[in-house]
Amino acid sequence: MVGQANIPVPTAFIEHRREWTAHKLGHMDLICSACHALHWQAERPQNRTRAKAGTFQACCKHGDVIVERMRALPEPLNTLMTGQDSQSRLFRQHIRRWNTLFAFTSISCNANARTGTTGQGLQLFQIHGAIYHQKGPLVPPGGRDALFSQIYLYNPVEAAQARYARAPTLDVTIIESLTRMLQQVCSYIQLYLTVRERFAQLSEQEPDLRIILNPELSLIVESGADMRRETLPTANEVALILPGEYGRGGFRDIVLAERVNGEVPDNGLTIINSNHASYLPLHYVLLFPYGEPGWHWARTLENQDGNRQNLRMSQRTFFRFRMHTRTDEPATLMRSQRLFQQLVVDAWAACDQNKLNWLRTNQAKLICTMVLLMYCNKAM
Ligand SMILES: [Zn+2]
Repeated sequence: MVGQANIPVPTAFIEHRREWTAHKLGHMDLICSACHALHWQAERPQNRTRAKAGTFQACCKHGDVIVERMRALPEPLNTLMTGQDSQSRLFRQHIRRWNTLFAFTSISCNANARTGTTGQGLQLFQIHGAIYHQKGPLVPPGGRDALFSQIYLYNPVEAAQARYARAPTLDVTIIESLTRMLQQVCSYIQLYLTVRERFAQLSEQEPDLRIILNPELSLIVESGADMRRETLPTANEVALILPGEYGRGGFRDIVLAERVNGEVPDNGLTIINSNHASYLPLHYVLLFPYGEPGWHWARTLENQDGNRQNLRMSQRTFFRFRMHTRTDEPATLMRSQRLFQQLVVDAWAACDQNKLNWLRTNQAKLICTMVLLMYCNKAM
């Protein structure tokens, strides 16, 4: 909403509300000729050449961003996400609960409870501070119930029962059918089963052992005091091999199973790095049920005009591409209601945390630039 041009509306003056006029953007019916994203007339580029070409900056940087499209959802998830029957509507209304039930990782953040309540009015997802995705040990410590990824190690019938025990108010038939669906399509389930089998074989012989999913999406076994390395076979869908240069820095690894001095760490919660390609699919399982990779360091931009100095695709650029609605891919994210709000907040926090980390680790470079600028200003 905006105020009329000749009537300045003082901030927080409710009495002036009736004087506001609706801000109409018209129909979102312009299609980017490069990536098929839908835009409003007001987003049309000012540059004549760009306008003639019919490409836009916000969605794909005029064709320089190429990201794989969202795949059509498998059934019955597709019907639940698109259907207009009461069961599908109820599913979407509680989609965050449903997603948590199937997620491999838990989410940790300070959510604002006041804006998160259901009922009348605008629904928001608001957090304070940072947001983390966490992963527990591969198998639950003795006597405790399985949670998150641990449930995927059960057979489908037991897994559905374990999920129903965690959420008895949700429809058990939907839990069973989604469990069966994910067993068929989700590539991470096979990967976790491979890790459990290998971990069981090795844990008797090896006092120190780690199985990690590295940033190149390969499974690596590290064992012994000298951390000998072995690469395990990975499911084809997950084994998107990324250039090795992007894998440097063990802090980006995801530790799937660990044994230190012969013991399995008790609660062993580890934080998943938001730069890892599995960050999105391991939590947003209902949005990326096939395990499609998210943003990672190996994503690059095209350079159609030849003017780009830096070809690295930023995390922000990736999310901007992902969040546009297109004519050639299903609008899964837009249909996911409060889960979409959570994803947007998560993406924003990840981009912000990355920026702050860069500032923290590049202080020397920043100080050098500042000193140089001061020197130049003095010399002029
Ligand atoms: Zn575009």
